[in-house]
Amino acid sequence: MRYISTRGAAPALSFDDVLLTGLARDGGLYLPESWPAFSAAELRALRGRPYAEVAAAVMRPFIAGSVVERDFESMVRQTYARFDHPAVAPLKQLDSDLWLTELFHGPTLAFKDVALQLLGRLFDAVLQRRRRRLTIVGATSGDTGSAALEACRDSTQLDVFILFPKGRTSEVQRRQMTTVAAKNAHAIAVDGTFDDCQDLVKALFADQSFRDKYGLSAVNSINWARIMAQIVYYVTAALALGAPDRPVSFAVPTGNFGNVYAAYGARRLGVPIHRLLVASNRNDILYRFLQRGEMKIGAVEPSLSPSMDIQVSSNVERLLFDLTGGNGVAVAALMTSFRRDGGFALDAQRMAQVAEVFRGFRLDDAGTLRQIAETFRATGETLDPHTAVGVAAARDLAEPGVPTISLACAHPAKFPDAVERATGHRPALPARLADLFERPERAAELPNDLDALRRYVGDHAKGLTPA
Ligand SMILES: *Cc1c(COP(=O)(O)O)cnc(C)c1O
Repeated sequence: MRYISTRGAAPALSFDDVLLTGLARDGGLYLPESWPAFSAAELRALRGRPYAEVAAAVMRPFIAGSVVERDFESMVRQTYARFDHPAVAPLKQLDSDLWLTELFHGPTLAFKDVALQLLGRLFDAVLQRRRRRLTIVGATSGDTGSAALEACRDSTQLDVFILFPKGRTSEVQRRQMTTVAAKNAHAIAVDGTFDDCQDLVKALFADQSFRDKYGLSAVNSINWARIMAQIVYYVTAALALGAPDRPVSFAVPTGNFGNVYAAYGARRLGVPIHRLLVASNRNDILYRFLQRGEMKIGAVEPSLSPSMDIQVSSNVERLLFDLTGGNGVAVAALMTSFRRDGGFALDAQRMAQVAEVFRGFRLDDAGTLRQIAETFRATGETLDPHTAVGVAAARDLAEPGVPTISLACAHPAKFPDAVERATGHRPALPARLADLFERPERAAELPNDLDALRRYVGDHAKGLTPA
């Protein structure tokens, strides 16, 4: 399988190179040159099989030709054996036609683990083979950070630097990053918003000589391998509820559009997905885009669902590539206009294509608390604030006769303050994280400044020296 950039001006790469590279050299995101297709019979054959087996089957075409191909099945099996539920992404019923799929059974209690636990292994395998080291640099609005640090902590080939917006993550999220006791894992508190952190990372990657000297790479959702690994749980959930013989819809709490793009990927593979409900908090750039066809950046405002406090939803670029029929020049023009003017608009024909699948939804903090309280009262189930935004979207927009699966993106104990306000009870951390508040914290503090970041990474990364 070869991968091409959404902006059409970077070389096509193998899976291994896409994994290590993250962002394309022309600023675009990588996508498969052609999408594999699964027939209804092939999908039916996967129904009821263990998660790791479905995962290996779904991802196999995407890694064809990779050096990880031979050991892939055992890597996938080992990855998901670490999750604390045998189904990995179990389904729970909330209402007659409304379901949750729980994606928080990995080590850091959010869906990011599903992909990043696998990515850590893939990186190590490819880098060992090439006798190389890399420096992972990423920005997090909360959950990516701890998941990335956990995914890389045992690596012999990686140093990892994670920027988070100081004071804008929950305390549990912060502690999950600052308590990773590994010499190659660095948590950095930046005086700014998540978008500031993301802009710093992008600027660092744009510095070609620094990028080459330290072998910079990314594990945020611009990395194709993450999208690939996330496609899997859309397939398992849909199969469990009757696909391919019955369509399903998904409600996806979203910030960067990464998770919802993975759902779209499952649809492209042949899973009959009727609607994708794109659920935003008050940072509603995606909602406004889906309503009006205009992507217009606004100011980031903190909310009860901080992992969705984003105004630049990078993965929309992958959708734009499809909407323009794979026209990299057109995508590059839209993204340039977005950067330069703070927005772009799509014509009615393209928006009609978008509307065939996507519906937008937004919910403010009061609505989020109401949804947590109502779901708790009606079902006894405790939702985290991100999950609540998705469930509210599902309750508002689900169509009769089509099962709707809402993604439970984080464990409620990651956001105990919001949950306690809504339900009156404080959710407990699972046993394996019960001593989180006693573990010593360690983090660097940096201003919102590229030179400061450059210095810090330069001082702490081992660069490209072979292990
Ligand atoms: C990362 C995250 C999101 C947003 O996911 P995207 O892939 O950025 O759209 C939503 N909820 C939680 C709990 C998250 O960790």
